[in-house]
Amino acid sequence: MAKHIFVTGGVVSSLGKGLTTAAVGLLLKRMGLKVKLQKLDPYLNVDPGTMNPYEHGEVYVTEDGAETDLDLGHYERFSGDFVTRDSNYTTGQIYQTIISKERRGDFLGKTVQVVPHVTDEIKRCVLKLADDETDVVITEIGGTVGDIESLPFLEAIRQLRYDLHSRNCLYMHLTLVPYIKAAGEVKTKPTQQSVGELRRIGIQPDVLIVRTEKALTDELKKKIALFCNVDREAVIVEKDVDHTIYEVPLMLIEQGLDELVAERLSLPVGRPRIRDWIDMVETVKHPRHRVKVAVVGKYIEHQDAYKSVYEALRHAGIAHKSKVEIVQLEAEELEKKNGVKGLAKIKPHGILVPGGFGHRGAEGKIAAIRFARENRVPYFGLCLGMQMAVIEFGRNVCGLTEATSGEFDPKSAQCVIDLMPDQREVTQKGATMRLGAYPCALAENTKARAAYGAEQVSERHRHRYEFNNQFREQYEHRGMLFSGLSPDGRLVEIVELADHPWFLAVQFHPEFKSTPIQPHPLFRDFIGAGLKYAKDHQDAGMVGTSSEARGPE
Ligand code: GLN
Repeated sequence: MAKHIFVTGGVVSSLGKGLTTAAVGLLLKRMGLKVKLQKLDPYLNVDPGTMNPYEHGEVYVTEDGAETDLDLGHYERFSGDFVTRDSNYTTGQIYQTIISKERRGDFLGKTVQVVPHVTDEIKRCVLKLADDETDVVITEIGGTVGDIESLPFLEAIRQLRYDLHSRNCLYMHLTLVPYIKAAGEVKTKPTQQSVGELRRIGIQPDVLIVRTEKALTDELKKKIALFCNVDREAVIVEKDVDHTIYEVPLMLIEQGLDELVAERLSLPVGRPRIRDWIDMVETVKHPRHRVKVAVVGKYIEHQDAYKSVYEALRHAGIAHKSKVEIVQLEAEELEKKNGVKGLAKIKPHGILVPGGFGHRGAEGKIAAIRFARENRVPYFGLCLGMQMAVIEFGRNVCGLTEATSGEFDPKSAQCVIDLMPDQREVTQKGATMRLGAYPCALAENTKARAAYGAEQVSERHRHRYEFNNQFREQYEHRGMLFSGLSPDGRLVEIVELADHPWFLAVQFHPEFKSTPIQPHPLFRDFIGAGLKYAKDHQDAGMVGTSSEARGPE
């Protein structure tokens, strides 16, 4: 029978609950257990697919095509295992299920209520992951304890301990111990109050993970344990990391969280095997080289909007024992203010245009891509970043001066990016997105094939528009290489330029499959090309292998 760990958060949001959940997942996996991770989100949207990245950050896409919370990205990057759509449920989804059942008459005339109907549905979503092959299910409850909307979730997990027996369930609560500068002290009161709030609804946490800026004294830990009614060794301190988020699991192991969980849940396992993880963290701490990548996007201000892209760039840096310095550029500013001059001033060693929706900033992205192509700066385009590269090449190389995307101007005669003919009739936009994993066949003697070292790969998608096949010949004739196609040859998946040091763009989202232990091959080669560019241009004042790059961040 699977055991359950429930992770809740208190005091404030954005404490890194998702990261901590992922780190615990890694520990248990490396102890030889089969672990499944899950996030329950209290908002009413059915999924984050329709939410603005400013609202919610990145939408993470799973293999099976679910649009989910970005914390699932942490789960996959840490555990190295793929999650599915069952790993993310929202209040909206839960209510949708209950209301459809009610309309079908499944409740046989009964009054449908939050308790027991909503709580039962939440329990069903948790238990769905607890199959015969799973040893531990870790369920993270979104939001902060004390919020009105997370109450049904907390009630459901309270009941689960009763249903499944206390020896099979463990409550982990993440809180903040703030440092008050004026008093020169850290304060435990918010933690006490948050635990009090949990106890009021019947949940006594077994483990407290306290987020702090500074290390805590033993005395303070004792105080927290005493007033929160947890064992002294169950107060785990998660201090802000110095170098990388990938230090978190090591910090938890140092304090014996792995042993504590194993003991509490009676799991017959040894300590985690994490040599490779330790080595990886060491690599991050002591980079040998430095490479500067400009990311030209539309939601640059929101630090979580391109989370997986930034992480994948860092992973690629690890593969080269290098630190990737990411310079974030707002595409619209590039378009309206100083154009590519601003970009040239930064002297990037690589330029990346990530995915996105809508016209805003498109011209800035196209200008940045032209700069990369003409100046032979390595370029990597992701999804919309590929579509923009195709438009740029159309306009400036193929003489298609009006080249555009059907997303921006559906009536244009030069929609080099467009809906596929069979999609054009479908009016309901939400129904037409290509989502999740699709195969891609790679052509011989291309950069894509060299990077992957395979004939066929599978990557995740999230888009409606595709390369318009009417223009394929014209593009090929002018030197664009279609190095990745759907196996039936119908859809263009990867384009590249043969006469450029590294110019490659993909219709999919490779960033979702990169992990620090297994950096994605395309990101790895992009950063490799960036390092080469930095080295070749050292005379031009580029920061390449300088001594400055050797110290910690
Ligand atoms: N907006 C584009 C499309 O729908 C690209 C989407 C993306 O970058 N994820 O095709």
